[in-house]
Amino acid sequence: MSFSNGRQYLATPGPSIIPDQVLRAMQRPAPDIYKGEIIDITENIKKDISNFAETIGETVIYISNGHGVWEASLVNLFKPKEKVLVIANGHFGKSWAKLATSLRLNTQVLDFGRCAPGDPNKIEEILRADTNNTIKGLLVVQADTSTSVLNNLKEIGDAIKNTNHPCLYLVDSIASFGCDPVEMDKWGIDVLVTSCQKGLMTPPGLAYLVISKRAETFSKNIPNVSPYWDWKPRLDPEFFYMNFFGTAPTHLLYAQKEALKIMKAEGKNAIFARHKKLRELVTCSINHWGEAGPLKLNVPNESHRSNAVTTFTAKGHNLSLLREWVEKHLGLTIGLSLGFDENEFLNGDSVARIGHMGHLNPHMLIGVISSLEVGLKACQIPHQNSATKTFHQILGK
Ligand SMILES: *Cc1c(COP(=O)(O)O)cnc(C)c1O
Repeated sequence: MSFSNGRQYLATPGPSIIPDQVLRAMQRPAPDIYKGEIIDITENIKKDISNFAETIGETVIYISNGHGVWEASLVNLFKPKEKVLVIANGHFGKSWAKLATSLRLNTQVLDFGRCAPGDPNKIEEILRADTNNTIKGLLVVQADTSTSVLNNLKEIGDAIKNTNHPCLYLVDSIASFGCDPVEMDKWGIDVLVTSCQKGLMTPPGLAYLVISKRAETFSKNIPNVSPYWDWKPRLDPEFFYMNFFGTAPTHLLYAQKEALKIMKAEGKNAIFARHKKLRELVTCSINHWGEAGPLKLNVPNESHRSNAVTTFTAKGHNLSLLREWVEKHLGLTIGLSLGFDENEFLNGDSVARIGHMGHLNPHMLIGVISSLEVGLKACQIPHQNSATKTFHQILGK
């Protein structure tokens, strides 16, 4: 029999947990979409996202998921046959590259494997060798959600600056926005891509492009951008509906406004510090379990780990059974593997992920960790007991 009746817990890397306050903000009738508060709410969300990205550049909103703004970022800046260099550390970098290829861009993938970030020296070397400036864009996923590798956006930005290469610097911060710090203007980022359902704690459906002045100017020379994805009317809308190329996503805007209110009240630095602690609780637990068994963090070096998600492995053991057990018996769902399809990883079954982004505190995450430890025993996966043993030290610091 199942004991899982009660509040189900989704500890996957997105959609993240939605605060009750955000859910409540949507319990209301539809507003007029031609005048009134929805206009100010939209403007303020755009400002808040730009502020959070640390830029004077403007934000545009799409009614879409992350894949939509991946596409929007490319069609506004590059023409078919132009070359883009994509840094890959897992499934998401490769998927963005695949999308670029299907838009007929000349896509070069620089693959750093699944356990390490992009090497800024290597990137600098490639840009230096590109003396004719054929590379028009550099695409980097800040935190690849499949592997939990965190790229060092500042160092990559410095690599571009050191070479004076004119390529545009595009960053996917979909998983990491609101979890790992990002400073667009200081780090020289031209376009930041994100969406609302991860660190931004809002039901899926809104996605954002944060656009530097340089990218805005650059985009004016790109002809024939498909009308829905064209950011120009959204940057400078003559009428309110042009922000969305149609009806505004009214209730998602109410929700996002409320989530941003929570974020502003907590403050950027406090949010990042909390996520760092949450990440430490998870990584410390996996390391502890691994002292007497197969469990292991996917990313060996601490400074290469994202605060948003943790990928772990248990070679030779089936973590999908663990996942099914904790879901069925405890009401907890953790993330499946993505992009580990080799036999070595039992076609992905010996890999799993824990999302720790957004509306989350230690007590919630300790529930996840303790539940997993119960599941490890039930599924007979060897491990060192009592992962929470030293948590008071991590949290008391
Ligand atoms: C979730 C995610 C995406 C895809 O977003 P969707 O909303 O599922 O389209 C892209 N990149 C990263 C890093 C993500 O975490």
